[in-house]
Amino acid sequence: MIETFLLNSLLLLSQRPTPERQFLDLKNQLERFGFQVVIELPPKRGAYGLLEVANKKIWINPVVFELHIGTQTLVHEAVHAAQVCAGKGKIKTLGLEVQPINYARPFFMRYTNIHRQDLEREAYAVQTQRNSFELAISLLQQHCK
Ligand SMILES: [Zn+2]
Repeated sequence: MIETFLLNSLLLLSQRPTPERQFLDLKNQLERFGFQVVIELPPKRGAYGLLEVANKKIWINPVVFELHIGTQTLVHEAVHAAQVCAGKGKIKTLGLEVQPINYARPFFMRYTNIHRQDLEREAYAVQTQRNSFELAISLLQQHCK
């Protein structure tokens, strides 16, 4: 009886999604550039990730690990972080050439503010690239020195 219980909880433990290597590498990189990354519910309801420009604080909703979009979510916020670095405390577009794939369009088109839409377009563009992790790292290194 006890053994069965133990086995079950071990199984449960091994199945629980954990942050991946890339997630942790990107988190370290962000922290090196003065961003704080917390894995907590963001103050904005329903958001997977959120960056507070004034405090350089990034929230990552723990649910993203269950959905297996942890790295993708952090890549998105890392682009916003690079935008903050580029704007020297404010937030500014990076002037990226990459375009988001079509399925991502509704996600940033829902922002009615044009400036916001451009910021989101860049974040979704990077997030949906095959090499999104490497891109995010290089944008941070390029803009946050
Ligand atoms: Zn965004």
